[in-house]
Amino acid sequence: MHKQRIAIIGAGTAGLASAILLARQGHDVTLFERAGALAPVGAGILLQPSGLAALKELGCLTHILDYGHRVDALRGLNASGNPIMNVAYADLGEGDEVFGLGVHRATLCNILDQTLLALPHRRQFCCQVESVEDRGTETLVRFRHGSEEHTQAFDVLLVANGSASQLRPASLVQYDRQYPWGAMWLIRPLTESLAGFRSPILQQRYRSSRQMAGMLPTGRVPGNGDVPMVSFFWSLPVSDMAQWREQGFDLGKWRNDVLRLWPDLNPLVDAIQSPAELLPATYRDVVMSRWGQGRIGVIGDAAHAMSPQLGQGANMALLDAVAVGRAVGGASTWNDVWTSFADQRSGSIRFYQRMSRLLTPMFQSHLRGADRARDLALTISQKVPWLKRQMVETVAGRKQKWW
Ligand SMILES: Cc1cc2nc3c(=O)[nH]c(=O)nc-3n(C[C@H](O)[C@H](O)[C@H](O)COP(=O)(O)OP(=O)(O)OC[C@H]3O[C@@H](n4cnc5c(N)ncnc54)[C@H](O)[C@@H]3O)c2cc1C
Repeated sequence: MHKQRIAIIGAGTAGLASAILLARQGHDVTLFERAGALAPVGAGILLQPSGLAALKELGCLTHILDYGHRVDALRGLNASGNPIMNVAYADLGEGDEVFGLGVHRATLCNILDQTLLALPHRRQFCCQVESVEDRGTETLVRFRHGSEEHTQAFDVLLVANGSASQLRPASLVQYDRQYPWGAMWLIRPLTESLAGFRSPILQQRYRSSRQMAGMLPTGRVPGNGDVPMVSFFWSLPVSDMAQWREQGFDLGKWRNDVLRLWPDLNPLVDAIQSPAELLPATYRDVVMSRWGQGRIGVIGDAAHAMSPQLGQGANMALLDAVAVGRAVGGASTWNDVWTSFADQRSGSIRFYQRMSRLLTPMFQSHLRGADRARDLALTISQKVPWLKRQMVETVAGRKQKWW
């Protein structure tokens, strides 16, 4: 395709990664972002082998490996100490080269941004995009910069503004709702007292499906020296989140709940002085019939937000970006681009959406018996080699279909 004016809305994982690949192809890329700068926001994310392969294609792998914390396995015990989740990347049978990586979200964005900064492109930060319009021969982006409103024309645009996007074409959205459960999280230095969490493992603890805690080592953050970090997550219903900001929130009771479930967390929870140190995260479940139409495409969480239970959000965003890059590189019309994107991505997107919908209530819900079904299913999957293989391929981000 000859040089196109492409607007990308959202400088998160999907937006930055696709901007790199499209700018490399010589297109005239403009990146819109409502934030004033790429601030170090967000907790840890787990990059899967599929996401790391995408980062290699983007030319960012060496850098991210330097900052992140290698993860070889995911281990989760229930309150009785029985292993429920036990997935090791070694079970893929591909040797030492295949692993996950715990990284801070800000680290991933920073590394993508450094790569993008070396390429010709434009960026409009502090610009909240209010609406987009496909006019057949061009697209219009309407955005607010401070108190001023502006409109700019492009040949095509990619909506990459995250799970709560109001910009994805309504005609393509089949389903969009917030999950009733989310998590409170914080990031802390992985000090000597937390040395037990330095092993290359994402660890979780579950009490029925009502309580869940997780610890993910996330490595270093650019600009913060050599301090390795860890991300802590505590699952809870979204309806309980408001209490955390109320005066009189019983932090002591919460500490006791956490320590009853996971005594090793004592040094971490003991040091928490105020509930405000934990930040809330909510998730959406978004299903679209297609991810592109006319001159507007949708990628990343905006296209297929899901719960983080399978740890695929950032991976899927990276895979989308690579697919868009390949589609644009090989197609001559925008309709061909969306068809090629769907050919590359629909199997994986549909699989992970269904799987995360199926699994999430087993870890985060008040459903009676959900935990017993989970424990039974996961214990069986450890014992049947074929199921074990499906589990690890699912976690690794490589599944395209059920069988
Ligand atoms: C602040 C923040 C913190 C996060 N923390 C975590 C975390 O701790 N763990 C985790 O697993 N995932 C986290 N996520 C989600 C994770 O980043 C995504 O699942 C994944 O990286 C896919 O990214 P994305 O690019 O599709 O969307 P996002 O990473 O959500 O990026 C979307 C970008 O679009 C911008 N944007 C939104 N609306 C507009 C608009 N109207 N105009 C202009 N710009 C707009 C946002 O500011 C953001 O930079 C976080 C996302 C955000 C925005």
